Amino acid sequence: MRSFFQVFSLSILSSSVWAGADWDYHHPEQWNTLSPNFAACSGHNQSPINIERSVKADLKPLQFSYQILIQRIHNNGHTVQVDFEEGGELMLDGDRFQLKQFHLHTPSENKIHGKQYPLEIHFVHANAKGELAVVGMMYAQGAENPQLARIWNSLPKQKGQTVELKQPQSVNHLLPKNLDYYRFSGSLTTPPCSEGVRWLILKEIQTASVKQIEDFAKLLGHPNNRPVQPLNGRIVVEN
Ligand SMILES: [Zn+2]
Repeated sequence: MRSFFQVFSLSILSSSVWAGADWDYHHPEQWNTLSPNFAACSGHNQSPINIERSVKADLKPLQFSYQILIQRIHNNGHTVQVDFEEGGELMLDGDRFQLKQFHLHTPSENKIHGKQYPLEIHFVHANAKGELAVVGMMYAQGAENPQLARIWNSLPKQKGQTVELKQPQSVNHLLPKNLDYYRFSGSLTTPPCSEGVRWLILKEIQTASVKQIEDFAKLLGHPNNRPVQPLNGRIVVEN
């Protein structure tokens, strides 16, 4: 019998469908009814959220070590995802969080002051105890994004397909110069919606061209954003 953390980790760190219960974006408000394993989806600390009010706090700067190559991309039907074995790291709360994967949402899941962006990237990390930290970053419509362009060259069009990147690039290149951020406690935005996830949303907004945004939306064939969830008294802090 697998431990909770093993099952928990497998579900988000691999791109496989949760055993016994498939889900989609047609009725995200019913995810909690699809399986007893999805009960957390009706919890009170769920993601995504609308970051409307935030409190200035003495937050430590984020320390990324992302000198790790993006080599292959997988289409799991819910999103496209890049998985990592080891080598990427985020230092947070005095602890090492390994970069496990990143993936994309269109439109954005989190909102900032009510604004929804056409694209949001999620960098998913786990520490040695299996606790999760997700860094989110928004893309507005604008100039073509050269870093995304290299990934877009190799986007897997079919569900289940994996494509090797023609021009492997360092994850580091995706990060902005300014790493100021919002922080709050939330959950996975897909089943099993597990809570206790440390959310960090970068304030600097990137751009992607209309074509880049449309290409990704067409590839998925459906929006893959869970609607924003009630804050229920949670406080968002920022540096
Ligand atoms: Zn996500």
